[in-house]
Amino acid sequence: MRKPKLLMTPGPTPLPPEVISAMSQQIIHHRTKEFGEIFSRVNENLKKVFQTKNNVLTFAASGTGAMEASAVNFFSEGDTVLVVSVGVFGDRFINICKTFGLNVIEKKYPYGDVANIDEVIEIIESNKDIKGVFITHNETSTGVTNPIEKLARYLKNTDKILIVDAVSSLGAIDLKTDEWGVDVVVTGSQKALMSPPGLAFVSVSEKAWEFYKTSKLRKFYWDFKKYQDNLLKESQDTPFTPAVTLIRAVDVGLKLILDYGLENNFKRHTRLAHLTQLAAEKLNLELLPKKEYSSAVITAIKSPEGVDIEKVRKIMNQKYDIMVTGGQATLKGKIIRIGHMGYVDEFDLLKTIECFELALLEVGYKNFEVGEATKAVLQEIAKEVSENK
Ligand code: PLP
Repeated sequence: MRKPKLLMTPGPTPLPPEVISAMSQQIIHHRTKEFGEIFSRVNENLKKVFQTKNNVLTFAASGTGAMEASAVNFFSEGDTVLVVSVGVFGDRFINICKTFGLNVIEKKYPYGDVANIDEVIEIIESNKDIKGVFITHNETSTGVTNPIEKLARYLKNTDKILIVDAVSSLGAIDLKTDEWGVDVVVTGSQKALMSPPGLAFVSVSEKAWEFYKTSKLRKFYWDFKKYQDNLLKESQDTPFTPAVTLIRAVDVGLKLILDYGLENNFKRHTRLAHLTQLAAEKLNLELLPKKEYSSAVITAIKSPEGVDIEKVRKIMNQKYDIMVTGGQATLKGKIIRIGHMGYVDEFDLLKTIECFELALLEVGYKNFEVGEATKAVLQEIAKEVSENK
């Protein structure tokens, strides 16, 4: 008998039972008071998780759809934008902006590095034409979190907007949308929000709405104003048929996060990252990024010399039913990524580390003592237990 796979991946992530059961209900029509009530609650709770007073728009799409939408709603062909990239998802923003004919200034950092915000600000100051800046909050492909607060606060007092991909961070890593002054925040349902894949969300500041008014890029399904207008109605809905079942799911996912407390959720993820980093250290494995900017939701670990890390990943998946992920693009075969995002706890992580040890052993990695990493994680958990008893 096999258990369902434990998703220790950077999305999709496991679902709480309450979220699963919310999806087993009969479909209701979306132009009804009943749907309006659910959707209004979702919208109010999204604002809390986004830490904004502005409306958050909901789309039936994956995160990439909302990334594309955040380019087409604010700019016109030929506009100059700066895209800061530290990995695969930053590169995706570059490709999207180029696809729509924007004049893209690329500021790329090697995979595993963090963006240097002072350098980014220098580029902005020396290019007066820049109308918008795109950056990834948490770069899932490398396990790096960019310090976007400084950039946001700088851009707040300029005539440029900041667009942030928070697909893998929102709800798990602090992002004070209004306080810091982030104009557009994009996220997806399948990561820290503990919901299934299929919904994308975007918050839009007043400053960004001014950019919308002059944007000439073509849009129909993605036209933000249509979604905003439907949120301003008495019974809120979406301009096109919403993914009713997914909205029910996210309604429950958001409630669970807010009941637990947003701050507590940030701390919980930081703790899971700390435990994973500790395990890597005990296994004599190096993190891809420096510890200071290693992500709270995903830990990227370098493959040790002579080890087939893809084989390790496959053993964990096929033999132990624990799904972790490998490297993307040029990092394929060079790293393993352990996700600790959403509905996973310390015991899921403990099991993951145990199986990681066994898989490393199976592929012949010898530079560790079996049980050391697991013991270190367990002792950290035990410390907490004795402090709280
Ligand atoms: N941006 C980041 C940081 C991501 O982690 C992902 C997905 O992993 C995306 C964008 C793309 O999201 P989706 O796969 O939902 O289109």
